[in-house]
Amino acid sequence: MEPKLTVVPCPQCKKDVVWSPESQYRPFCSKQCQMIDFGEWADEENTIPGAPDMSDSDGWSEDPY
Ligand SMILES: [Zn+2]
Repeated sequence: MEPKLTVVPCPQCKKDVVWSPESQYRPFCSKQCQMIDFGEWADEENTIPGAPDMSDSDGWSEDPY
């Protein structure tokens, strides 16, 4: 029997990431990708209120408006 490895694509660069304790940045492939994602996340939090959202407004159905 061979050990079954769970491999997930990095949300940033789509690189295969082995889901194991060794992959400390999973689901990201590296710290860099993790930071990029976190940066985008923080960016959304800091978006200027009232700024027109021209893209991906889906998933915000519970908007306080
Ligand atoms: Zn990556």
